[in-house]
Amino acid sequence: MGADHSAIHDGSGATLVVDLDAVAENYDTLRQKSPGAEAGAAIKADAYGLGLEPVARTLSAAGCRTFFVATVGEGLALRHILPAAEIIVLNGPSRESVSLILDASLSPTLNSLHQIDLWRHSGGDGDEAASAYLHFDTGMNRLGLGADEAEALFADPSRLHDISISTVMSHLACADTPDNPMNAAQLAAFRALRARLEGVIGPVRASLANSPGVFLGPDYHFDLVRPGAALFGLAPQIGARNPMRQTVEIYAKILQVRSVDTHMTVGYGAAHRVERPSRIATVGAGYADGYPRAAGSRSGETMHAFIAGHRVPLFGRVSMDLITLDVSDIPEALAVPGQEVELLGPHATPDSLAASAGTIGYEVIARFGNRLHRVYRGGVTRR
Ligand SMILES: *Cc1c(COP(=O)(O)O)cnc(C)c1O
Repeated sequence: MGADHSAIHDGSGATLVVDLDAVAENYDTLRQKSPGAEAGAAIKADAYGLGLEPVARTLSAAGCRTFFVATVGEGLALRHILPAAEIIVLNGPSRESVSLILDASLSPTLNSLHQIDLWRHSGGDGDEAASAYLHFDTGMNRLGLGADEAEALFADPSRLHDISISTVMSHLACADTPDNPMNAAQLAAFRALRARLEGVIGPVRASLANSPGVFLGPDYHFDLVRPGAALFGLAPQIGARNPMRQTVEIYAKILQVRSVDTHMTVGYGAAHRVERPSRIATVGAGYADGYPRAAGSRSGETMHAFIAGHRVPLFGRVSMDLITLDVSDIPEALAVPGQEVELLGPHATPDSLAASAGTIGYEVIARFGNRLHRVYRGGVTRR
């Protein structure tokens, strides 16, 4: 078998710099914001694209003990990294995954009567099943027991008899907009469901808040908060100052610069026509690296990259491996092959890139490509 050469960094590709100290500091900030609760961490999807192992080790060193992932596969990978952590699988168990969950001591989230029944019979005859989270849907209409299923459960509480429910949870739909009345409605529904559940199984730990939920105040914190995005520096509330530290930067290199005359076009579709004699720089990063193609469309706000602090607008469509920038207005000495370009960094946030592409910062960071050369700053990358 040939060696894997795909990881060779030839200097033409883009580099993702992950600031693990900023992740740890964001964890501390979230913990201070929710002093009465334990702070867990949602690190599904390869820690939102930043890299599971370095992020998990850094958060563990910062004191985090409870981690949320989406799938059993992610849970198994994390168990290998953190043998003693509590790991919750948000998608819950399936017939195929029950034994994997048990063997790796993961905690499933039970999202439906079907999953409750599945888990109840997982412990073998007469034995109590391992502990699990119980998820009530209070308005997302996504995962969790809906109102009908909750009524069916309370009508026949024996369905919970052999299950140890460690935590009851729900998920907020609109927490990033604090005045949305949905927040208070979900809070009231969650309190009522918890009280009814406690009537059946006795006192139980509760968890409601994602990142923006942490910023809704102590009523929303309960016993355990589950932030993800804010750990990675995304703004928890729309339109408010972002209190989190940015954790990701992307740098790429200029590969080529050309002069383009009026009436010529740049890029696929010949969609962008220059209106003055221009210099166009071609940079080695594209949508395969996670730079959103929609950022190069004409509909959104123009996205800017930065060269030695100078703003340079994107010009032309984003292609798979390349983007093109209008460098006409910066000093010529800076617009040369080999020059470093900031695509995300001190001047360009994932949230601003997302806004120019009509999406959210979550999607931008979760889609960082495998080809990006990854560099970790600070934190704990290895045991
Ligand atoms: C992803 C997720 C979180 C974390 O949400 P953020 O908005 O990233 O903080 C919390 N709870 C559940 C159920 C999730 O799916």
